[in-house]
This record gives sequence, C-alpha cells and structure tokens, in this order.
Amino acid sequence: MSAAAPAAPATDVQTHGNYIAGEWRPAKSGATFENRNPANVDDLIGHFAASGQEDVEAAVTAAAETAEAWRNTSAIARANILFKAADLLAARANDVGRELTREEGKTLKEGVGETTRAVQILRYFAGEAQQPSGEHYPSINPLTLLYTVREPLGVVATITPWNFPIAIPAWKIAPALAFGNTVVFKPASLTPLCAVRLTEALAEAGLPAGVLNLVTGSAGAVGDPLVRDHRVVGISFTGSNAVGGALRTIAAERGAKLQLELGGKNPAIVLADADLDQALSHVVNGAMMSTGQKCTATSRAIVDRRLVDQFTEQLTDRIKALRVGDPLQADTQIGPVISEDAAERITGEVADATKAGVPLLAGGHRLGDNGRGRGYFVAPTLFGNVDPTSRLGQEELFGPVLGVIPVDGLDEAIAVANAVRFGLSASLFTRDLGKALAFVRGIQAGIVHVNSETAGAEPQVPFGGMKGSSSYSREQGKAAREFFTQTKTVYIDVPPAS
Ligand code: NAP
Repeated sequence: MSAAAPAAPATDVQTHGNYIAGEWRPAKSGATFENRNPANVDDLIGHFAASGQEDVEAAVTAAAETAEAWRNTSAIARANILFKAADLLAARANDVGRELTREEGKTLKEGVGETTRAVQILRYFAGEAQQPSGEHYPSINPLTLLYTVREPLGVVATITPWNFPIAIPAWKIAPALAFGNTVVFKPASLTPLCAVRLTEALAEAGLPAGVLNLVTGSAGAVGDPLVRDHRVVGISFTGSNAVGGALRTIAAERGAKLQLELGGKNPAIVLADADLDQALSHVVNGAMMSTGQKCTATSRAIVDRRLVDQFTEQLTDRIKALRVGDPLQADTQIGPVISEDAAERITGEVADATKAGVPLLAGGHRLGDNGRGRGYFVAPTLFGNVDPTSRLGQEELFGPVLGVIPVDGLDEAIAVANAVRFGLSASLFTRDLGKALAFVRGIQAGIVHVNSETAGAEPQVPFGGMKGSSSYSREQGKAAREFFTQTKTVYIDVPPAS
C-alpha cells in the first residue's frame, strides 16, 4: 500500500455566497463556514454562506415568483440553456474535477469522470425536454379529443449528499428544470464548492433569475425550513435512511411529493463457475473505488463455498496492494474518507466486528504516515466468514469495508443477498446463462448486474432501489419525468353545429 503525501495547501481561498433571484449574495446573517480537504485538513478550500431560515425564504420566494414564467418558457428554450451549461461545464471539467477531488476525496480520475458525467446528464435532459410528453387516447365519443399532458410541479427542493457532489445535483436539477420546475438547491455541507460550480454553469448559460436558487448551510438551518415550506411542492432527496425517514413524515403531513434515494448493502455473488479474475477485479473496484463511499458500493461478497478460500486469498492480496494516499496524485487508487467522524465511525465498527470474532483479513485501521495523519485515511478493509445476520452483514458502513459470506450455491446466495432491509444494486458473476436469469428474477434490487460491478450506472436508464433503498420512484432516464411532472387529462369536445 503506497503512501503519497498530500500536496501543499493552496492559498487562493475565496468566499462563496448563495445564488438567489439571479444574484450571488452572502447569508443574511453574514455568517460563513469553512470547507477543508479531507486528504489534508491544512488545505482550506473556501468559505461558504452559513444560511438560515431567512435565506431559505428568500430562495423559495424567488423560485415561486418565477415558476409561472419558467413553466411557460418553451421546452426547446429550456433545453438550449441546459445544452449551453453542459458546454460550459465540459470546458471546465478538469478544473472542476480537481476541485471535486480536493473537496470530496475521490481520486482525480474519478473527480474528472464525475464532472464529465454531470455534463452528460445535462445533455441527456436537454434532449429529454424535447421528447413527446403525454399521450393521445381514443374516447368513447369519436369526436372527443382526449389526451394527457405532463406539467411541472412548481417549486421543487433538491437536497443532495456529499459522495457524488456534482453528478447527483445534476441528475436532480437538470430534469427538474428541463420539465419546467423552479428549484431551491441545498447541497451537502461537506461539498458546497461543486454546488457553486454547477450553479455557475447554469447561471452563465442564461437561466433566468430565480429559476435555480442555491442555498448553502446546515441541515437544521437550511434543510429543515426548506422541506417544511408549503410553497415547495416536490422534494427530491438523496442521503441517509435516517434523514429520509424523517422527511417521509414531514412530506406526508403537508402533502408534498417526495422522492427518496437512500442507502444500500449491495451484494456481489460469485458462483463456482465465475471467471475468477473478472470477479476479483469487479468486486475490488465495486467495494473500494471512491473509498467505498458509493450508495451502490459492494459491501458483501457472497461466494460459493467451493471457491471461497481461493477467492478470499486473492481478494486479500489485491486489497492489501491498493495504493492509498493523496487523491490528486495520479498513481493513487484510494483517497480518504470524507471526515473525521466517518473515519472514527468506520474504524469503530471494524473494532466491534473484530471483538465479536469476525476474521479481519486486511486493513481496519487509520493510516497516519507520510502526511496521511493530516487527512482521514482508513486502510481498505476485508473481513472473512461474515455472519450474514450480524451488524457487519446487515448495515451500511459507507466506507472501504468488504465482508465475504460463504454460501452453498445460487439459491442460498440469493436468499442471503435478499435478507437485508436494503435493495439498491446487486451483481452476479457466472458463465451460466440460466443462473444469470434466475438471479435477475430472484434478486431484490433496483439495479442488477451480471458480470460487472454493483456500482455501474448510466444516465439514460432508471436509477433507484427496492425496499428500504428508495421510495419506489426512480431517477434519471425517462423515469425522471415521472417525479418532476404531474399529469393533466384533457377532454376537448366541439359545440354542436348551430
Ligand atoms: P445525509 O446525512 O442524510 O445528508 C444528505 C443531505 O441531506 C445533506 O445535504 C444534508 O445536509 C441534508 N439533511 C440532513 N438532515 C436533514 C434534514 N433533517 N432536513 C433536510 N435536509 C437534511 O446523508 P449523507 O451522509 O450526505 O450521504 C450518505 C448517504 O447517502 C448514504 O446512506 C448513501 O448510501 C446515501 N446515498 C444514496 C444514493 C442513492 O442514489 N440511493 C446516492 C448517494 C448516496 P448537511 O450536509 O448540511 O448535513
């Protein structure tokens, strides 16, 4: 495991405001908060508006006042703004990707890759805005013109997590705008700079004032008043199950439309006939890329007992060989986790599992040498012989931690894979088409892969989970229109001839 020292801190520290009613402005209180690099806490990235209820009110007012005009703007004009924003962001992808890496801690390749994905998402929804919307139906009366149209909800809130700080905001905001909604955007407090960069691209692309409003600040001071504001008709939230659960109650009480994308405990099943090298490389990537901090990360390797010793031995070697260090360095494979709290929580869970007798095969500890003590580095961690009913087998740790669960064949593998409250993504490694089809039928997951990692997702297809991983809605692809619009059914009859 290499240990590239984090780079020297940059000195050009800026203060970023909210974007409300077409203006960048400080929080009304004037308060700010700091954002620091998780790979090196000496690297101060910026100061951001620590907003409060009064800023949320101003943002929702701006969004409400412009809702009618935006809804009446042609879909083609809305699409053109998204295309232009995509071009602006594409031209800045290397710089923004670098900022993403400094702010979130994933590797530079992943940071630039995620920014490029945000560009692709903006383009996809610019195209989607121009697709047919609504349907024409036959009527009982042959002269009646009977059809549906999809109309925007009005003002929507997008509340996003830190782990995909530009792609997730893009995949909520782009469809919201494309289909004619106005938006108040509350990003994660750990990654506000990416939110500023996405908002800048959309603003510079010509979005009218008030159509998109960015408010940075804490969950309590910004998120809570935002979701309780009766003018906010729809709430699209990605984050933890705990917060998602609280939002269900708030939205139900005031009748808001709610979309939740939550956690996962994603299995990769490896059958005895799998291509070993393919399975190993996808399981390692699925579990450890982005430091295991993907909702779709692999956290359980469910392996046929006939293969499990050989598989686990090679998995251990590959995980121990991962290069952990400054994510801005080209040869780094794994960066830090997002925060001190996350590092302590993850190593605490590892200590509990070890105390309970689960075999720790790799990692499990903080890394402090070669400058890594200035960041939140956790060694990639592997447990063998995990009890599927234990905490380690059931709960999302959201870090670089993988557990191997031995099973006897496909039926037991699917039963174990399904015996958790989550159902986001799942993989199977096999050469047997019949087994692949049985897995696709039997697995309880919204995103299913055969012979590829659990974390792959493309923007043109629906994304979301089953069971506790979502609220039965889907994001991205054509599915996005479902959440961000509502249906109007139209009957048109002609008066009798006079
Ligand atoms: P989080 O703590 O739930 O926060 C998510 C967002 O909600 C942040 O912007 C947060 O603000 C805000 N928030 C927190 N409490 C709130 C409240 N009471 N009212 C309104 N807003 C509130 O989640 P996270 O730690 O950022 O993200 C990690 C989780 O997200 C994991 O469970 C992961 O699996 C899940 N995730 C799911 C998907 C998916 O598509 N299924 C994708 C990515 C991540 P602050 O930042 O200011 O606290």
